[in-house]
Amino acid sequence: MSAANSVSWADVDAAIAAEAERAVEFLARLVAAESTVGREAAAQEIVAGELARLGFDVEQLPVPEEIAAVAPGGVAQVSYAGRPNVAGWLNRGARPSLLPSGHVDVVPAQASLWSADPYQPRIEDGWLVGRGAGDMKGGFAMGLLALAALRDRMPDARAGELGFVSVIEEECTGNGTLAAANAGVLADAVVLPEPTDLDLMVGGIGILWVEITLTGVSALRSQPACCCRPGSCCRPGSCRRPGSCCRPASRSLCVG
Ligand SMILES: [Zn+2]
Repeated sequence: MSAANSVSWADVDAAIAAEAERAVEFLARLVAAESTVGREAAAQEIVAGELARLGFDVEQLPVPEEIAAVAPGGVAQVSYAGRPNVAGWLNRGARPSLLPSGHVDVVPAQASLWSADPYQPRIEDGWLVGRGAGDMKGGFAMGLLALAALRDRMPDARAGELGFVSVIEEECTGNGTLAAANAGVLADAVVLPEPTDLDLMVGGIGILWVEITLTGVSALRSQPACCCRPGSCCRPGSCRRPGSCCRPASRSLCVG
């Protein structure tokens, strides 16, 4: 690294430090917006506002209802009305392009397992605590903090397009990301600021939605020995359902 670059990186670090408090305040507002599946709109408004404040061109991208109907779409939980993805852009159309991407939805919090309201963010031992602070609203705040500092202090480092997309419904289907990709929100490189203890991960687990058709003989899960096929044997007394096919209290044959 040249001496000039060293000075520039020090400037970037200084810009990050100068704006850190503001980024944490953004994170707190985002955590307070309870963005469980179906309720992401308020959080998306906050993301859109932050992107606009940082100079991004912001657009809301509706998620079409039919996204769930075609593979690899997942089974929709609720209607997509009023639940848009949000994207912000700098240098739109320039190459190469970089796209940090995050999901704004969170898993519902079981209040009894929390020592305080999970949607009332608070600082404990230097950590901001609240539902979604780690997965992955912290990534939104810190990613945007870094990008803004880079833009301000090292503008030559960002010649290509820089986007940021906030998607819905990652925690159950992935349909938000699928809809964004279908709408053209793509890039030469995508970074997901998920919590990884700052490790770089190049792969991870996913979800595969499949439909399976089985043929066979139905039986109670608690009484798998009770077969209801005429002529087959069951354990004596194993079938006690009204209308079940075994004669109780004897080694019996199913009578169909
Ligand atoms: Zn996540």
